[in-house]
Amino acid sequence: MRHIDNLGSQFSISIPPDENGLIGRECPAPECQSYFKIQPGTGLKGENLPCHCPYCGHTAGQDKFFTKAQVEYATSVVLNQVTGALLKDLKALEFNHRPRGGFGIGISMRVTGHATPIRHYREKQLETEVICKQCTLRYTIYGVFGFCPDCGEHNSLQILDKNLELVHKMLDMASSAEGELLNRMVENALEDCVSAFDGFGREVCRVHAEKSTEPSKAEKVSFQNLDGAKHNLNGLFNLNFSSGVTDEEWKAAVQGFEKRHLLSDTMGVIDEEYVRKSGDVQAVTGRKINVDSEEVRELVRIIGRLAHEVSNALHAMK
Ligand SMILES: [Zn+2]
Ligand SMILES: [Zn+2]
Repeated sequence: MRHIDNLGSQFSISIPPDENGLIGRECPAPECQSYFKIQPGTGLKGENLPCHCPYCGHTAGQDKFFTKAQVEYATSVVLNQVTGALLKDLKALEFNHRPRGGFGIGISMRVTGHATPIRHYREKQLETEVICKQCTLRYTIYGVFGFCPDCGEHNSLQILDKNLELVHKMLDMASSAEGELLNRMVENALEDCVSAFDGFGREVCRVHAEKSTEPSKAEKVSFQNLDGAKHNLNGLFNLNFSSGVTDEEWKAAVQGFEKRHLLSDTMGVIDEEYVRKSGDVQAVTGRKINVDSEEVRELVRIIGRLAHEVSNALHAMK
């Protein structure tokens, strides 16, 4: 039994990375079991570091996050080696006794068969790639938002910053356009800016919902209307949303958000609600709203400040 003895009793199977250098992971929490990928060698260095599920935040040892396909693969590699060795050992015992004399019976043993095949698998394609600003881990997830699998830091601010950077780039591009195209590009940049902030705000409230007075409500706070969001954050988290910016900045931001409302609801034509809520003294009902590029850049700067404030405040909360 030379071959089988040589195998020993311990197997170490390495899980190969995919064509992008990423390895699949699966959350062990029964109610989650969600899939994500990480790049080995990036992120935190050290032994026995835990892994965090980007979707539900569940934390456990790295060895608990193998995917079902990886476990099947590793099991099949072991079975393949064992059955392969077994077949070789049996093959060495083959014999063939020819019949002797008129009435002799010939006996032979032939070993046939194949080793258990290896069950190969492919890692899945995911939707968003993030390089964690905190620990440099490269990871990919479904959706957009998530916790870093290495350091556990949530990526909501990082995603917001990335989107706001894109708004700046769009405005840069718009500067070489003229007339209607220029207006449309600046308006789209404003809409993207508000959507990015709304997405960030909802996510950060959802993540910290359990710290609020009413978690089910905190999970669905809208940030499309700044005064409304301020009112909600005050009630739910006892947090003054506008404390990090001046009155002028807050007013400018409110006006920017109200302009965006007009763009999506009335094709940019000023209505009475806008006149009432925006504080825009030049607004005339029935006229088209004007959005200029500098105004959107200023809005990007202000909401960046608001976002960092709210994120830090919620983080610090117990
Ligand atoms: Zn999970
Ligand atoms: Zn990280």
